[in-house]
Amino acid sequence: MTSTIPKIRDALHATFRSGLTRPLPWRQHQLYQLARMAQNERELIYDALQIDLGKPKTEVLVNEVGSIIARAVKSAKQLPEWAKTEYPDVADRQKLWKPAIYKAPKGNVLIISPWNYPMVLSFQPLIGAIAAGCTAVLKPSELLPTFSQLLEEIVPKYLDPNAYRVVNGAVPETTELLELQWDHIFYTGNGKVARIVASAAAKHLSPLTLELGGKSPVIIDSAYDIDLAAKRILWGKCNNAGQICVAPDYVLIQRDKQDELVKAFQKHYNAFFPKGALDSPSFGSIVSDSHYKRLISLLSRTKGEVVLRGRADAARRRLEPTIVKDVVDGDSLLEEEIFGPILPIVPVDSLQQAINFVNARSHPLVLYTFSDNESLKQQLVSETQSGGIVFNDTFQQLAVSELPFAGVGESGYGYQFMKHTYDTFTQLRSSIDMPKEAEAQLAMRYLPHSEEAVKALTAAVYTPIPPNRL
Ligand code: NAD
Repeated sequence: MTSTIPKIRDALHATFRSGLTRPLPWRQHQLYQLARMAQNERELIYDALQIDLGKPKTEVLVNEVGSIIARAVKSAKQLPEWAKTEYPDVADRQKLWKPAIYKAPKGNVLIISPWNYPMVLSFQPLIGAIAAGCTAVLKPSELLPTFSQLLEEIVPKYLDPNAYRVVNGAVPETTELLELQWDHIFYTGNGKVARIVASAAAKHLSPLTLELGGKSPVIIDSAYDIDLAAKRILWGKCNNAGQICVAPDYVLIQRDKQDELVKAFQKHYNAFFPKGALDSPSFGSIVSDSHYKRLISLLSRTKGEVVLRGRADAARRRLEPTIVKDVVDGDSLLEEEIFGPILPIVPVDSLQQAINFVNARSHPLVLYTFSDNESLKQQLVSETQSGGIVFNDTFQQLAVSELPFAGVGESGYGYQFMKHTYDTFTQLRSSIDMPKEAEAQLAMRYLPHSEEAVKALTAAVYTPIPPNRL
């Protein structure tokens, strides 16, 4: 059977060229349709995510369905403001030239999404693509067969299939998609596949967004309320059983506070899950057997001391939160992004040692810090690098739709959420419109140049530079 993928791409490309996606009211309608889809089909979405991921219902409604509805509706309302042509402030003599910045859709785009927050990570980029006036192919993760199949069924019922298509499949299909030319590729997933995506994008010079992960550390200042820090960290870690790119990956704390922190984790674990997490409907499962085995292998090789031993059930791919103390550099738990409900604690002798530990590794997606000390916070802002920096909480930053979400270095590049996603799929198209009356002003540029013209044209060379004060 010949593949339909190139035909789908060509059809969407033709739709884009036709101008169908240009009018703002049309884009707003598609955004409201997307919100309607999430609202009307939420039970089917929940059932699918329950089958594929064992996702707790409240987690699905709050973090997947609710956030997509809210962001689609808000984006539709704010779109006229975002899409306005901008007129930059320019030098007086250039005002006559009518400098303008048009907001142009980039074209036909490809969105490749992962399994862990499949609703939000598929539709959040799509909201931006629709708002920008692009056509798009959405490629969901093959690790969620029920959910991905559901998308193929429900998306065409709500969104115009001439402009938006779901293409399902695994590596061969994604590879085929990546061989084609796209006007932007938005990939969310791991760094290894990101390199494959980046090479494919380079062949067509396609612009690219890479939303990746990594090990997001937590630094706890000894003077902070350890009990509260433990509660907030454990809550952030329990979302989707730790399978989220912004999960707290490991904790750095001064050695003499480590046991207090462990006790606080135990206390809050018992409060969150009075009967344990193994059968709790509020705690998710591990996505696949291979991820489950990976986590068990990391745990079996750690030289740290397991202080909160999570029970495991291989048949149901369930693993309770597990806390390991006295983890040192080189340990299995520090090898790679954990992406599961295991939390290592790395004791340090000073805050500076914690900062050095973070700076010795690739730039994380988020750096979490618990401290009331404003100068320490500013020190961390200026002395470390990470996609985001969050003080005194975990995970909650995702609720602020106006903040740009992105990585840096190994955690990726390119921005998303609301207007930032719109901007990602929008080309800033510069323009001037030179009136005939400007001829007098422009006269000196024409050849041959008089001595006076050369002086005027080269004036910038002699721009006064402020004296060196360092
Ligand atoms: P995944 O296995 O579902 O893969 C993501 C996508 O890549 C899928 O659509 C898949 O089909 C495609 N893919 C897989 N192998 C491929 C190949 N060889 N060639 C082309 N495409 C291929 O998801 P994952 O990568 O395991 O996702 C987890 C990772 O994503 C973690 O590292 C996590 O931190 C990161 N993540 C980042 C964000 C963010 O916004 N920064 C959000 C969620 C997850």
